[in-house]
Amino acid sequence: MQRKIVFATNNRHKLDEVRQIVGSDIEIMSLADIGCAVDIPETSATIEGNAMQKCRYVAEHYGCDCFADDTGLEVEVLGGAPGVMSARYAGGAGHDSAANMALLLRNMQGADNRAAQFRTVIALSIGGEYHTFEGIVRGKILETPAGAGGFGYDPVFVPEGWTKTFAEATEEEKNAESHRGRAMRKLIEYLKNCK
Ligand code: IMP
Repeated sequence: MQRKIVFATNNRHKLDEVRQIVGSDIEIMSLADIGCAVDIPETSATIEGNAMQKCRYVAEHYGCDCFADDTGLEVEVLGGAPGVMSARYAGGAGHDSAANMALLLRNMQGADNRAAQFRTVIALSIGGEYHTFEGIVRGKILETPAGAGGFGYDPVFVPEGWTKTFAEATEEEKNAESHRGRAMRKLIEYLKNCK
């Protein structure tokens, strides 16, 4: 029988990405598919805490196997900020990428150390057990944005070994190297070997 698992998101882009990696072995359902329309709380002080909070919420309220992800950009010279605050770095309701990026560049003005990493944590609840999977991509922050693709901080992030930003890459190039892609592949490997 095909395994079914809920991905605690309604982000179409993330759903497509995972479904593409998983293939037909596992059916990935969205929050909409299970009738969950609430804004699941993400109030933890850490990336892993938020991933676990979302995962636990769905497992406990809907009684199904599920996983949730959370990502942050961690900048060395800023002591790991914006980190768990990445979506809301510039304040407001969050997800204002232009404002977040502008604040980041302002806070890094004049800094020689441009080292940063994207870090994704996926929390999985399966058969009543919890597991986490981490994906990291290291790189550097440019002084001015470049590229129109991707989202969030993509226009200022150049992965290690690259000469262009994530925003200048194709979706396939980014997925092959990205923090989320790495964490997702670990999760999927685990699920495929799960009895
Ligand atoms: P989320 O946990 O996937 O919602 O990510 C939180 C925030 O991190 C987003 O709102 C973006 O600002 C940033 N972020 C996450 N993933 C990426 C990425 O792949 N590229 C650029 N920014 C990202």
